[in-house]
Amino acid sequence: MIIITQPVSSPTTPINPVQKFEDFYRFYEDSPGEYKYQEQIKNIDAKGGNSLVFLYEDLLSYDPKLAEMLKKDPERLLDDAVEAFKNTLKFLSGGKLSYEDYFVRISTLDEKSTLGVPIRGLRSKHIDQLVWLKGITIRSSTIRPRLTKATFECLVCGATFEVLQLTSKIKWPSFCTNNRCKAKAKSDFRLITKKSEFIDWQSITIQEVPEDLPAGRIPRSVQAILTHELVDYVKPGDRVKVMGIFRSVLATSMRSNNSTLFKTFIEVNYIDPEDKSEEQIDITKEEKEEILKIAKEPRIQTKIA
Ligand SMILES: [Zn+2]
Repeated sequence: MIIITQPVSSPTTPINPVQKFEDFYRFYEDSPGEYKYQEQIKNIDAKGGNSLVFLYEDLLSYDPKLAEMLKKDPERLLDDAVEAFKNTLKFLSGGKLSYEDYFVRISTLDEKSTLGVPIRGLRSKHIDQLVWLKGITIRSSTIRPRLTKATFECLVCGATFEVLQLTSKIKWPSFCTNNRCKAKAKSDFRLITKKSEFIDWQSITIQEVPEDLPAGRIPRSVQAILTHELVDYVKPGDRVKVMGIFRSVLATSMRSNNSTLFKTFIEVNYIDPEDKSEEQIDITKEEKEEILKIAKEPRIQTKIA
């Protein structure tokens, strides 16, 4: 009998995170012989769906190096995790993918997770890292469309073309795609919303839970951004646990144009409303009324720059 001892990846070659995530989905065993994520992905393939949720502690036990990379550089590694999810689905379905967008969401059941940060503990060192925090939703904005792919028309030559919108500030074309056309001023182009792509977008405010509050302190809060199917998932008064990327943007409202002050928010990857029965035990009637009062305040939501 031949026993294969050759490892798939050699330690001297650079890590390929997409392959590493594929290995994790295929070979992670909950208990011997129980391939937890392989089973989940088979289910998603059979029933249809575009979201996979995995526990951070599972990845940590299977591939600590990859888990650490995910914590430090979630923006890039989440893309890799999605690629690996799509590759695994394609493998199972014989090459077909039925959705345009796929999502990998990360959760944890570990109360002592290394990703956990209390809201008042969020600091500049956490920027662009994956964080796990809990609190009470005190405000939620209306759901708004956010532009992701803009189609512009050149008013000089009539050409239409797409510009990807990756940040919260709209990117206007600086030249025309028709290379014989000299158009470059902002007024030379028109945004065609009908031919552009939008996603659902919502901003919520999460406040520290009373039991996390040092005596006599005012509760701190953090803004969190929900997109796609995560919008409208929680309402003011709900206790939530959130996994997300701690982001910073230059505060445009600052008087000085040269401000180096940034404001921060959580770009949510996964949101878990806690058990409602727990909420009734932990929040008094007065606290609940206070939260609902704040939620009804007719103030305009602070916009992300
Ligand atoms: Zn043109």
